[in-house]
Amino acid sequence: MSAAPAPAGSRRVNVRTPEVMERVQAEVESHYRSPLVEAVRASGGVLTIDGTTVRLAREFGFCYGVERAIDLAYAARKVFAERRVFLLGEIIHNPEVNRQLTEMGIVSIPVGQHEQAIADFQSEDVVIVPAFGAETRLMQKIAERGCMVVDTTCGDVMSVWKRVRNYAKTGFTSIIHGKAEHEETRATSSRALGDDGRGHYLVVLTLADVDFVCDHIRNGGDKAAFLDRFKGASALSEGFDPDTHLRRIGVANQTTMLKSETEEIQRRLHQAIQDRDGPEEGAKNFLVFDTICGATQERQDSLFHLLRHPLDVLLVVGGYNSSNTTHLVEIGEQQLPTFFIRTAECLESLEQIVHFDLHSKSEKTSYSGKLASPDPVVIGITAGASCPNNLIEDTLLRVFQLRGISPEVVRAAVL
Ligand code: SF4
Repeated sequence: MSAAPAPAGSRRVNVRTPEVMERVQAEVESHYRSPLVEAVRASGGVLTIDGTTVRLAREFGFCYGVERAIDLAYAARKVFAERRVFLLGEIIHNPEVNRQLTEMGIVSIPVGQHEQAIADFQSEDVVIVPAFGAETRLMQKIAERGCMVVDTTCGDVMSVWKRVRNYAKTGFTSIIHGKAEHEETRATSSRALGDDGRGHYLVVLTLADVDFVCDHIRNGGDKAAFLDRFKGASALSEGFDPDTHLRRIGVANQTTMLKSETEEIQRRLHQAIQDRDGPEEGAKNFLVFDTICGATQERQDSLFHLLRHPLDVLLVVGGYNSSNTTHLVEIGEQQLPTFFIRTAECLESLEQIVHFDLHSKSEKTSYSGKLASPDPVVIGITAGASCPNNLIEDTLLRVFQLRGISPEVVRAAVL
């Protein structure tokens, strides 16, 4: 089986030939699809059996970018069955999906070991770039090794790159709302240096970070203290000088941030520039593009919609390092008992739930009497863009099972 030819001068390959994709789709569906979840969704997303109700968010689970990335990774394995296939980090942030790829013989190179690993790559090796993209310096090194590249970077991430590249081209510093160590933000930061490498960026995560930056914009201040606050987390471009590089700023964000927070960050930075420069000059020195992706926004909006219904407990299913999933948990926590679970196995019993605690940043076991109530119970379920439907099905079945309703009864009620 052969791949479509790469464009001249490039080692990027198109593995999505019709023949390959037919086989890939069958395999992907067998690994991640859930007819049960699809049926519940088709009937309005609510399932009630004997006093136990599960209510699904309208939109959850795999987004188009994740589906494409997984398809490409599976296709790469099929097309290059005899070759070594490497993946930079994780294809997406979901342990189940990454486990499947490992079982298929795709070798994931942990973040932090990329440069070392790339140095050993051979020209006949295949390298999969994940949906988050990769830093320009890594892409350069891979090109130097002459490897084949299967690039699964999501189009929405590339739109952010286009924005920050333009900022650099026009002399604006990119202020990126995101997690400085996240693969996507690192990839975006590297593009914010511009094509000539002379651009600058600053990554801010919290409103406290932003207020600190705004204070420097308005009043200037201690440069050393500023650099000290952001050093050590790849949050600043080399040579960043707050007195120079905050004169003209363009705001962008990691695609999976909490929309309301990103909007507030944009507003505060805009206000700070206006306070310093006045409305006319301020308008020339500030640019903004909302780069939250459509899928992230839909999942957040759907959760707000779900939360309008009375729920006793919310379960958010997904990888603990998934940014968009984390924000769903933050939204839920503000309103009701919310548990961030990796898989259905985290529901150890009606009272005992293993879950990731965002505040201590660790997995812990909590005890909740809500699910064990003899009264009718309503459980909300949602999942981030990297969570496959089969994991939602497992969770749904587990909830009913713990409430004394067998998978057979659930299936009979739905299918
Ligand atoms: S969450 Fe958004 S940016 Fe990320 S892969 Fe999905 S569509 Fe693309």
